[in-house]
Amino acid sequence: MVAVIETLNALCKTFGCQTIAVEIHRSCVEKHCLSSSSHEAKPHMTFCSDLVYANYARVEDFEYLEDNYPEINLTGTIIIARYGKIFRGNKALHAQAAGAKGLILYSDPADYAVDGDISLYPDGWWLPETGAQRGNIWVSDAKGDPLTPGFPANAYAYRKNDTDTPLPKIPAHPIGYGDARRLLSEMKGPVVSEADGWKGNLNVTYRIGPGFTDPQRKAKMNIYTTREIRNTYDVIGYIRGDTEPDRYVILGNHRDAWVYGSTDPSSGTATLMEVARAFGEQVKSGWRPRRSILFTSWGSEEYGLLGSTEYVEEFQKILGERAVAYLNVDCAVVGNYTLRVKSTPLLYNAIYEAARQYKCQYASPLEVRQLNDQLMQVERAFIEPLGLPNRKFLRHLVFAPSNNDYYAADAFPGIVDAMFNIDEDPDQETRWRIVREQMAITAFVIQSAATTLADVLQF
Ligand SMILES: [Zn+2]
Repeated sequence: MVAVIETLNALCKTFGCQTIAVEIHRSCVEKHCLSSSSHEAKPHMTFCSDLVYANYARVEDFEYLEDNYPEINLTGTIIIARYGKIFRGNKALHAQAAGAKGLILYSDPADYAVDGDISLYPDGWWLPETGAQRGNIWVSDAKGDPLTPGFPANAYAYRKNDTDTPLPKIPAHPIGYGDARRLLSEMKGPVVSEADGWKGNLNVTYRIGPGFTDPQRKAKMNIYTTREIRNTYDVIGYIRGDTEPDRYVILGNHRDAWVYGSTDPSSGTATLMEVARAFGEQVKSGWRPRRSILFTSWGSEEYGLLGSTEYVEEFQKILGERAVAYLNVDCAVVGNYTLRVKSTPLLYNAIYEAARQYKCQYASPLEVRQLNDQLMQVERAFIEPLGLPNRKFLRHLVFAPSNNDYYAADAFPGIVDAMFNIDEDPDQETRWRIVREQMAITAFVIQSAATTLADVLQF
């Protein structure tokens, strides 16, 4: 999947305009879309339009454009924006909502090749100008196969029509900053404000647009997209537990990659394999873990968490009761090799103590069981079966992906969602009533969670 900038004077015969042409192979946005890298293939969609630079394509960036450049009409334009700050899929949705016809994303050196001691790959880890991020742009609370939200994609599953899925309606394509430099250097319009954080680190004058200094020229996107159903595979291994075989500790990672996956996921897969091998050696010499350990290698994560989601959807009745913890390795080796762990806050201490070779101080297996069950219960107490308002697949009332940035978490998302842009709503009374309702629900859930920690022998 390579972006090719054609000659600046290339003639776009179809549209009768000169173009700065970007050959676009639409990023794989869903399971059923596999991009073609063949330049021989006929594009499914071709269009020319004016480019508009939208910084990071966040909500606030589009609001900034509207407030400061009301004369710029984004309808039908191609947005060019830089990666970073928020999940790329939200950028596509924001561009779509603004009326754009297409989105070009690039990695600006300001974010991915910062000036300093470190060199560009392969001499260092900064991104070279030909590097393009290939991640999917699918935003949904119900990850997994977009045709079977909430249920496993098995043989008898009911499958939605393509058109009923929340897949993006506009094409998006990633390019490297070498190609972006060519496009941005030709743009006209007001110079961006450095003070407002709109200037990147390419050696060009960043301009908002729309369009190029030569009015004859347009940006052109050729879209190559196919949709088809493909099989993907999860590989599961396990060691049966000795004392509590019906309690599962799961160690997992995905197996597919944007390109070769040296860091993501293969450094994690190597770690997973090595842990499985070492545990296997122990088992051969008679050792058994206290609980069952599952080793899971997921297929098709990069398309939208497909393998892991479908597995959980298929076995959620069992996993919901028996899974004690899920440990994910992915980018296991990155940067300066420091151990980096992210987890639900309830596991912070467990990880810290494990790193200190914690020795269990509870004598009886029953005492351990009671304590462990409380740890599981307190986490699950935050889960509301009916889900968040209008987001039924998200059921944790303390953390949820932000509505405007899937990479970020909102704390108390029910309240945050209820208050989003509330000042602009003419119906203040209804909106604040919903906020009060969400505050009451959240308070109840926190109180319920606290009760799970009470001494079980004292009830
Ligand atoms: Zn990964």
